[in-house]
Amino acid sequence: MTNSTAILGSTGSIGTQAIEVAQMHGIRVTALAANTRVDELVKQARQLRPELLCIADESRYPALKEAAAGLGCRLLAGMDGLCEIAQHQSTELLLNSVVGMVGLLPTLTAIEANKPIALANKETLVAGGALVMKAAAERSLPIYPIDSEHSAIFQCLQGNKRSQLKKIILTASGGPFFGKTKADLKEITVEQALNHPNWSMGNKITIDSATLMNKGLEFIEARWLFDLAPDQIEIVVHRQSVLHSAVVYQDDSVIGQMGVPDMKIPIQYALLYPDRLPCPTKPLSLTDYGTLTFAKPDFDTFDCLTACIRASETGGSAPVVANGANEEAVAAFLARKIPFLRIGELVHSALEKLPVKPLTCYEDVAAADRAAREFVREAIAADA
Ligand code: MG
Repeated sequence: MTNSTAILGSTGSIGTQAIEVAQMHGIRVTALAANTRVDELVKQARQLRPELLCIADESRYPALKEAAAGLGCRLLAGMDGLCEIAQHQSTELLLNSVVGMVGLLPTLTAIEANKPIALANKETLVAGGALVMKAAAERSLPIYPIDSEHSAIFQCLQGNKRSQLKKIILTASGGPFFGKTKADLKEITVEQALNHPNWSMGNKITIDSATLMNKGLEFIEARWLFDLAPDQIEIVVHRQSVLHSAVVYQDDSVIGQMGVPDMKIPIQYALLYPDRLPCPTKPLSLTDYGTLTFAKPDFDTFDCLTACIRASETGGSAPVVANGANEEAVAAFLARKIPFLRIGELVHSALEKLPVKPLTCYEDVAAADRAAREFVREAIAADA
């Protein structure tokens, strides 16, 4: 297990739970970074006394300076600050739980500084999977997935031969709109889309769960993490979120990982790997659940999922485009500028209209991301 960790995205849902787990097991928190929430960040710093404190939104730096005066932390801001934390000397492991493609550069920076990563930022792998996995393999650095499904798969791979893996079963809760048709989803409001049945998460990922974009991103994430062909991933809707995913071996044995839907379990596995110690969560009672159900996903209604699978098969910049278009479209939906179903349409049309390019360096990724966002912004402006 790790002795010290830096947490990017510390005021978010994963970040606050990671702090709880770290405190329970005496893991020192060396640095904290938040996007915009200065007050929460400083409150965490007062309690944990990290060496470095960073606010990603540079316009809030003066507020951070004022609020953190006398704490004795070195204060940082912006992408430079995130990257400084990523390579900070007294940190053993970087826990990256920022939201969006902004997490990629700090991940690459940490790998270059020989730090293992606990990764909750799926966009890092969706956009930069080729770069991240290559850099980590060159240095034999582990990437511990914190996404619950990928943590489950990672756990199911322990003690078995990777070469004897047949496929994985990636489970999906189905989100709040399982069983609905496109016609039902026309008038969906932001509040309805933010009302997830099982998981309590940040806004962006909750919308991604409602569109099933989240499962599409996880499909791409799984391909990179576990080096899988597209036909080695079966997506299964499992409404209760108890089986977090499973692995099928050549002998058709299916090994799954179960637990209550609580992110503290995958967070702790990443921080304590390979140890399994008591976790601040509820135990799973299978008899309380009684029934677990499994169904095929509805690829027609949830076309973000289809878009991601297609983008992953296309390769090159296509997954970056799908992700960038989605980030921009979700922000517009949350700002009540576009209707719910427009998110999927925009992701599809960005993939159709923008050229597929090879990704050889970070700048290639950033350029494809910028092009996708610009495409979506222009499309939304044309809608109005
Ligand atoms: Mg997940």
